[in-house]
Amino acid sequence: MSAVLVSNIGELVTNDSSLGDGSPIGALSDAALVVQGGRVSWVGQRDQAPEADSLVDVAGAAVIPGFVDSHSHLVFAGDRAGEFAARMAGRPYSAGGIQSTVAATRQAPDEVLAANVARLVTEMARQGTTTIEVKSGYGLTVADEVRSLAIAAEFTPETTFLGAHVVAPEYADDPAAYVDLVTGPMLAAARDHARWIDVFCERGAFDADQARAVLAAGMTAGLEPRIHANQLGEGPGVTVACEVGAAAADHCTYLSDDDVANLRDAGVVATLLPGVEFSTRSPYPDARRLLGAGVTVALATDCNPGSSFTSSMPLCIALAVREMGMTPAEALWAATAGGAAALRRDDVGRLVLGASADFTVLDAPSYVHLAYRPGVPLVSAVYRRGQRVT
Ligand SMILES: [Zn+2]
Repeated sequence: MSAVLVSNIGELVTNDSSLGDGSPIGALSDAALVVQGGRVSWVGQRDQAPEADSLVDVAGAAVIPGFVDSHSHLVFAGDRAGEFAARMAGRPYSAGGIQSTVAATRQAPDEVLAANVARLVTEMARQGTTTIEVKSGYGLTVADEVRSLAIAAEFTPETTFLGAHVVAPEYADDPAAYVDLVTGPMLAAARDHARWIDVFCERGAFDADQARAVLAAGMTAGLEPRIHANQLGEGPGVTVACEVGAAAADHCTYLSDDDVANLRDAGVVATLLPGVEFSTRSPYPDARRLLGAGVTVALATDCNPGSSFTSSMPLCIALAVREMGMTPAEALWAATAGGAAALRRDDVGRLVLGASADFTVLDAPSYVHLAYRPGVPLVSAVYRRGQRVT
């Protein structure tokens, strides 16, 4: 197995607190790392680096773990730019806008859906993302949910069955029957294509009992739970997440003091999605409050055509720092190791011995530039399992 030495790293973020500056991001200066067989086989000071078969000299640039985007909805067709423009002209956001994407997605051939996912995955990679989670949820029929998941699985093992995104239009007058469909035949057909089960627990979508039923059925079918919770107002989503031991509760924009304590005590990751608040002109979640309470925080894009059509983790980091009270180091950790925690992965989101060699070279001397230079394309090279992907 040939070894590649990546050297002359001005600042290397490892997310290993036993390295470098001793902070959670474990930053080393004047560092190097060695990649062998797609994994990190050595990390340390440049002048102590071992011999290798080839050399990549990054000329003093910062190197960070590849971003782990633990929340996205990439399998869809259609465009909602008009809805965005209307919202920016004063119309409020509600969960119901999802239905317009459902209609377009059902009509789209598989090839169109797959090409759209491929385009967005490439867009994400160019911005430094190396691990993604992708949800279904714009089909809302057995066949359309299954094909959505099968397409997602071509791009990532982190696929999430979200038949319970909103009630399908055919069941508008009988949501209980739709929950029966989701927890019965739809789940039975979807389970082999998904790792995770998810539900949008919100006014206008599913209530606490419906969310419990969806997650319980998914868990019985062997899927692991995660949830959309507390996006549009305080509600039961976080409570349900903690009851079932979900990996993550996503959004967490409106939380009671009990919610915050429950997230910490249950070890449920709070995944914050600031692209949503940006794109819906809504108040941001209070990351400082969660971090102060000891809750593990992740950042993700929620890339979707309605409420957050960004694929950019650097944008999410900049928003988290500017609008949510996070330090640049906290935001970077949340976008890498935090996302990995939200997916229960310990092989990504960190650059430590044995981890997947997923890393991003920045056109900057420090990761701080991700927030300090918002909107600037700072990603100069991305490696996944040791192979350059951009
Ligand atoms: Zn979402």
